[in-house]
This record gives sequence, structure tokens and C-alpha cells, in this order.
Amino acid sequence: MGLQEEVQKRKTFAIISHPDAGKTTMTEKLLLQGNLIRSAGTVKGKKSGKFATSDWMEIEKQRGISVTSSVMNFEYEGFKVNILDTPGHEDFSEDTYRTLTAVDSVVMIIDATKGIEAQTIKLFKVCKMRGIPIFTFINKLDRESREPLDLLDQIEDVLNIETYPMNWPVGMGKGFLGILDRYHEQFIRFNGNEEETYIDLKDMNLPEHKAIAENPTYQETVEELELLNEAGDQFSLERVLDGEQTPVFFGSALAPFGVEVFFDTFVKLAPAPGPRRTKEEVIHPDYPDFSGFIFKIQANMNPQHRDRIAFLRVCSGRFERGMNVQLARTGKTIRLGQTQQFVASSRDTVEEAYPGDIIGIYDPGSYRIGDTLLDGKKAFEYDELPSFPPEMFQRVTAKNVMKAKQFRKGMEQLVQEGAIQLFRGYPTDAYIIGAVGQLQYEVFQHRMKNEYNVEVMLESIGDRIPRWLKKEQVDPRLFDERNLLVKDRDDEFLVLFKNDFALRWFVDKNEDIELIDLFEVN
Ligand code: GDP
Repeated sequence: MGLQEEVQKRKTFAIISHPDAGKTTMTEKLLLQGNLIRSAGTVKGKKSGKFATSDWMEIEKQRGISVTSSVMNFEYEGFKVNILDTPGHEDFSEDTYRTLTAVDSVVMIIDATKGIEAQTIKLFKVCKMRGIPIFTFINKLDRESREPLDLLDQIEDVLNIETYPMNWPVGMGKGFLGILDRYHEQFIRFNGNEEETYIDLKDMNLPEHKAIAENPTYQETVEELELLNEAGDQFSLERVLDGEQTPVFFGSALAPFGVEVFFDTFVKLAPAPGPRRTKEEVIHPDYPDFSGFIFKIQANMNPQHRDRIAFLRVCSGRFERGMNVQLARTGKTIRLGQTQQFVASSRDTVEEAYPGDIIGIYDPGSYRIGDTLLDGKKAFEYDELPSFPPEMFQRVTAKNVMKAKQFRKGMEQLVQEGAIQLFRGYPTDAYIIGAVGQLQYEVFQHRMKNEYNVEVMLESIGDRIPRWLKKEQVDPRLFDERNLLVKDRDDEFLVLFKNDFALRWFVDKNEDIELIDLFEVN
């Protein structure tokens, strides 16, 4: 198969959702559809195709690191599907955001009983801002849910995106009858624990479907849909691919119901790997020489295995195990011998990979987040990965002052690797670190101890609002603990404001000082 065909087969996406909305359940159902769980024999088959929820995750836990749950791949309907995991807000970290730089689309799962929940808005907004095509699955229709129109309104308001319902629920909760599939012009009937059935809309007038066709809820829904057809937006694949419109599917991941039609449609409509920007030009996936970038580095939390794994997204050409590549940042040649591909059942060795695929490469400490690896005569570097607004800040010191040297080394490496963002107090030079989620601090503390043998003390200075200043406008006398003056990695000045009130107070008192918000996502 040629390179171009391999590229067109690939669908690389992330599932994003609020915790408990049903991401795990959905992922498992997709793996089942891809027959991965069954064929890999990791989960014992039970009657009616229902499988134990967390068996394969348990396997990962025993390994002490959830690598395979970070990326999964399987074949489906002739496509090669790569699913990247993004943790919900509880273990949010910059990794979560960076993962979005490695996907071509996202599936957003929303709990129909709750709608969009506050903690996940930022994650959804990052997708919208980056123009990533978003496919929406509204889950748990088997429960008493919010009105479908309300849910769509909320998505439109919060994300500033058009919605196009691909199907429309008929009833909900106990009275849930199924979905009217607008896109395929069929009614998909919900049969509780039994498998769903598909009825062509043309056949709804047949006697055997009379009971449904004459059901008042069904008739109301048909009328609702007619209104929607007239007043709602038109479906536009182009707008979907531009991230301006989201196709919305209703269903239940648990039942499962509506999952198959959702996924069949998704794999057909979702974009294949596209071109990527480098510092000078654009590289297309069918560019013949191998290239890719590292978007995540995961340290093994198990002290027996100190290795780290760098996650690389292949962007062009063909990857082959054992090939020599160049690390663009340093020009050094590296042989990629120890590589892994991730499937739900095992960490297989990867022999070859194509654009859109994610491979794990053993990292002896050489890589940084954002690094480009490439083969061929032409040298280039992919655009830097965006950095994300840290929200929580901590002052960090070494417990034992004698360990200052290891402390500095550990800090330097972890910051370079992108595990944490570092700021230095001005003029105190104090070490202040910023993160987007609590988990990052736990990982940081653990790694400082295990990899650099330094116990660190963290002292929270709370959630802060960072604003950058122009050098010529910096006057240290204006700042104190409340509005803390610090420098970033590039020696630029910024102020960590205690809260919104402190920020507004400062702006009122110092109208001439320009404050810059480097992060557009709020
Ligand atoms: P995650 O935190 O987003 O991964 O959510 P899970 O997949 O773990 O689901 C959270 C809970 O919701 C679990 O108890 C699931 O069984 C349940 N759940 C998931 N999908 C559905 C659904 O379609 N209907 C109902 N009633 N419950 C569901």
C-alpha cells in the first residue's frame, strides 16, 4: 500500500469529557467494536457481549504505569483508528492540552443529564480555539435528561460553535424509544438490553412499525425535526473540518445504543492526518521522508524501571524500527530501536508506522517536549507546542540545603522536559512553579525524589492570574506577596495577581502600566 493510502486510512483522535460523562465506557465499546478486547483475550467474554469494565486497565495498573491506556489503536471498517487518552479534570495537566496537538479531531462526550460542566469548559475551548474538528456524543439518554434543544444551545453558547444534530432522541429515560437518524434517514429503535434495530424511514408506514409510528412521542419528535430542518443550520462537512460546526449524536454508551452509528459515521467524516506547520513551511503527510514530533514524555512511576517514554506523533513518511533519525534541535543522530506501539492488550513492539500513528520511544533523557525527529536530507523543526496558562502556583525549595546542586539539576531537566513551568521571584530569585493541575505537582515531587534524590518542599501560593509586563514599565516597589513579581524562562517579567479583585485594583491605580495576557483561553 502506498504512503498516501496509509495516510487516508488513519483516524487519530482524543475523547474529551468531564469525569463520569462516560469516556471509559465509550472507549471500551469502541474497542469491542474493533474486536480488540475479545480477540486479544484480555477480557473474558460474558453473555450478550457485555464485558467487565476495567479489566484491561487493571493490567495496566499492575505494570505500574498506564501507558497503553494513553494510546490505543485498532482497525475498524478498513480504517486504522488511534485513540489518545486525555484525563478528565481530576488529573489534568499540561499533558492533557499537549495531547490535543497530536490529534486530528476530538470526540466530546457530554452527559445528557448534566450538560457541559464547568471544569471541562477550558478543555473544550482549547479544541475550539485550535480549530480541531469536534464530534459530539450526548450520552446517557437512557436516563432522564435535559431537553435536547437546551443541550445544543449550551454547546453553541459555551463553545461558540454551530451544532448539527445527526440524530434526534425520541423520548428519554424510561420513555426512551430510540433516535431518528437524520443523516441516514432511519429510525434506530432502543430495545433496552436487547440489540438496537434499524428501520428505514420509508418503511415506517409498514404495519409492523405502526405501534411506533403512531406513538405520540414519536410523532412529536418528527414534528420537532421538521422545525429543525427548516430553522436549524445545514450540515456542512467543510465547516465541521474547519471546527466551526459540530455534528451531534445522541445515545447511550452503556446500553450500548447509538454507538455503532456514531462511530461508523465518525470514521467516515473525521479528517485523516493533515499537513503540519514547521518554522518555515508546511510539511504534508505524504512527504516521503519520515518526520514527527514529541508531544508528551511520561516517566515511569515505578522505581524499578526508571525509563521514560517519549510519545511521538508521526507527521510524514514511513517509520521503521531501527532506523536512524536526527534530533532536529541538536543535529544528533539517534537509532530508534526500542519503540512501542500501544494497544489495549499489550505494549507491542512497533515495526512500522505512518502519519497519524503514535509511537512510544525509549527516552534516556535526550528529548524535550516539542522536539522534532526526522530522516532525510532536509532539516526542519515543527512549530513549538503552545504553552498553557498555569493556574496554581507553588514556591519550591529543597528540604536539605546540601542538595542544592541536585535540586537545580532536577529542576532544570523537568522544566526543559515540560513537566512543570518555572518562574523566578524578582528580586528574590525564589523558585516558583506553575501547573494547570494538582497531579503535575505530585508527579514533580515524586520524580525529584526518585530521579534526582531530592526531597522538595512545596508551599502553595494559591491560584493566581498571570499578566506580563513590559520591561521598561517594571517597578518592583509596586509589587508584594499579593501581586508577586516574577520572571519567566525567557527572562520576561510578569505579575502573579492574587485574584481578580487584586488585578482590577492594580489596573485602576496604575492606568499607564500595560498588562499583557499571553493566554487567550479564559
Ligand atoms: P468517565 O469518567 O468519563 O470515564 O465515565 P465512565 O465511563 O467511567 O462512566 C461513569 C459512570 O456512568 C459509570 O457508572 C457508567 O456505568 C455510567 N454510564 C456511562 N454511560 C452511561 C449511559 O449511557 N447510561 C447510563 N445510565 N450510565 C452510563
